[in-house]
Amino acid sequence: MAEAVASCVHCGFCLPACPTYLALGEEMDSPRGRIVLMKGALEGELAQEEVLPHVDRCLGCLACVTACPSGVEYGDLLSPFREMAEQQRSRPFMQELTRTLTNQTLPYPGRFRAAAVIGRYTKVFRRLLPPALRTMLDLLPDRLPPRVDLPSVSPARGKRRARVALLSGCVQQVLTPGINRATVDVLTRNGVDVIIPPRQGCCGALSMHTGAAAQARALARRNLNAFDLAQCDAIVTNAAGCGSGMHEYPLLFAGEAEEQTAAKFAAKVQDIAVFLDKLGIEPPPALAQPVTVAYHDACHLAHAQGVTDAPRKLLSAIPNLTLTPVPEGEICCGSAGSYNIEQPEIAAQLGRRKAEAILGTGAQAVVTGNIGCMTQIDNHLRRLGTPLPIYHTVELLNGLPIS
Ligand code: SF4
Ligand code: SF4
Repeated sequence: MAEAVASCVHCGFCLPACPTYLALGEEMDSPRGRIVLMKGALEGELAQEEVLPHVDRCLGCLACVTACPSGVEYGDLLSPFREMAEQQRSRPFMQELTRTLTNQTLPYPGRFRAAAVIGRYTKVFRRLLPPALRTMLDLLPDRLPPRVDLPSVSPARGKRRARVALLSGCVQQVLTPGINRATVDVLTRNGVDVIIPPRQGCCGALSMHTGAAAQARALARRNLNAFDLAQCDAIVTNAAGCGSGMHEYPLLFAGEAEEQTAAKFAAKVQDIAVFLDKLGIEPPPALAQPVTVAYHDACHLAHAQGVTDAPRKLLSAIPNLTLTPVPEGEICCGSAGSYNIEQPEIAAQLGRRKAEAILGTGAQAVVTGNIGCMTQIDNHLRRLGTPLPIYHTVELLNGLPIS
């Protein structure tokens, strides 16, 4: 933490890249402001009440890291600071309840599925609920797609070129199970064995980014035990948030017995687009007719993992598909894990801004590499009365017909 604080020279280059600074216009809600606040808290000069509201409003999007010319590793400050603060703070009852419900539901597919079903019947009582619970309810889908159970081993078709283990994720496999299906199809079609370790679970990113470090470690530990590193060339993920979270395992286990295992594990983690781009894939199936698609950079892919070219390269190879950039592409859509539950006003402002930017491109569809962004963008395009089809990169690579 000290290193990140010390390397900031307060130049302010990160300010225009910070979504909360753009939304609120407050220095204390900018990366530079938050670094000063966290430093003050760490040195005992500032009280938690002065610091935490601003740190809570941070999306953890890491756009500031991309923008910073001095290489300040803001993420290495934020996560440990949140963990430390979480052990000392107390929250109002409703906030604590919302947080507990979120942390005890989202990372567990079975519980999330049950919550979505219960939520559907509870929507008639929506008006009677406190605002925080109303926000949670609004985010639950009206209808879930049928469950897709994938085999624990899907062999490569044709000559085997690689063997990977796939993180099946938590929320995504409930909301859009077709993404994992498409991932397995594209990989096997391109000569890759896909193992889905049955004992795996949520990557822990959601817990990690809200300071619930004990839960994050328990979830991460489960994955360290479930994935056999010797059996795979890479651990592939199709959710930017999970990829970023698993790359943070060494930070999460710093000074713990699992530190070395966590480093070896993280070194094997690759986003699906990165893996496919390096592997080199057969030409993807053509779209039925020419379509312009807006590519949305998920923060946890672009800023946290530095992945911007691979998905664009893969998508550009699809015949009949024209990719168009989204203005202000570096600005977060406001999804950021459970942010739209904990900070609904800012999340809504950012979601609307992103939806308007996408509509301004004139694109007929949207593509991105993160389920959280897909849900948030879909939600805000609908609120504007102009829904567009939204796809994961791998769904388009798999030949999903769009018109
Ligand atoms: S975080 Fe980087 S860009 Fe922002 S003020 Fe500090 S040194 Fe400048
Ligand atoms: S992580 Fe995102 S929201 Fe937080 S300070 Fe950096 S740019 Fe701003």
